[in-house]
Amino acid sequence: MDTRIERITDTTEYGETLDAAARIILSGGLVVFPTETVYGLGGNGLLSDAARKIYSAKGRPSDNPLIIHIAEPRDAENYASTSEVYYRLADAFMPGPLTVIMKKRDCIPMSVTGGLDTVAVRCPSHPIAHALIEKCGVPIAAPSANISGRPSPTSAEYVVEDMNGRVDMIIDGGECEIGLESTIVKIDGNSLTLLRPGAITYDALCCVCENVKIAPAVLNKLAENEKPLSPGMKYRHYAPSSDFVLLDGEKRDALEFMKKEQIENNCAVLCYDEEFEYLNASLSISIGKENDLSTQAKRLFTALREADKLGANKIYAHLPTPTGLGLALYNRMIRAAAHTIMKV
Ligand code: AMP
Ligand code: MG
Repeated sequence: MDTRIERITDTTEYGETLDAAARIILSGGLVVFPTETVYGLGGNGLLSDAARKIYSAKGRPSDNPLIIHIAEPRDAENYASTSEVYYRLADAFMPGPLTVIMKKRDCIPMSVTGGLDTVAVRCPSHPIAHALIEKCGVPIAAPSANISGRPSPTSAEYVVEDMNGRVDMIIDGGECEIGLESTIVKIDGNSLTLLRPGAITYDALCCVCENVKIAPAVLNKLAENEKPLSPGMKYRHYAPSSDFVLLDGEKRDALEFMKKEQIENNCAVLCYDEEFEYLNASLSISIGKENDLSTQAKRLFTALREADKLGANKIYAHLPTPTGLGLALYNRMIRAAAHTIMKV
């Protein structure tokens, strides 16, 4: 398949690109578009066939459901059973990086929800995403635009790496502002369960809802035979192809260990800006200042892809502290490392 690649630099003037993209979506094709979290691989959320194409383009198991993207928070009414809690979340965080799981309505095909009777709904704030969904007039089902299992793409360069030839169009809107996928919560009556941490933090959710639980699989490996609350929890994700190992211990000890492994075993490291000079530059990728979690979130997936290209035997990184935005970093990193944590 020929993939049309279009760059949009001015979000006040889309020209013909968005009309063409909307025509593709409405006729059942696939368009990759930027959002504030990561790039999404979009198809018409009301068409079974579009969902099948998405699973096939990503190589994603079809029991791992898709998030539907809407233009306005109230559009959720058409596709899900909304409640007072939904509107509290919507007032606080939408449009933005929050996905809410609710009972689905019949118009959403089972192929979109991986056979579940619930649907995940998000209202993105990125102007290109918003304009595209509005123009289509249908919800856009969109997982992250990576080959299944690889790090999610945060710039068009990595979308092209994974998706060129597999989709009808790629819209290049520059770098994604947040760089990690949306926070996912499931509504159960008056309580919420956090299924995937993201830029909307646990503490922020607690300000809006009294009872917020964190699903155990956010922090720990699923037990053998445990049924995941979200199908995606059972798959390895975000992973570079080299072995990725997280170091747990005093920062100084971890740094010493990293340096030694670079010299003796040709290993690569993800480090903080402050550490870069001390380490071997050709085997080190900095993800930002130690206390700047937003920059770390923004750079993490790119750093994992770049570390892979260094041809190292292994990749090491510090184990983040799982508080605030650090919970999202922790969650992505333990999954990228397939829960391989080493004490130093
Ligand atoms: P991605 O599409 O790559 O952003 O991943 C979406 C995540 O949302 C996956 O981990 C899915 O398993 C999860 N998800 C989507 N819909 C549902 C749902 N109805 N119930 C539980 N998890 C869901
Ligand atoms: Mg994904």
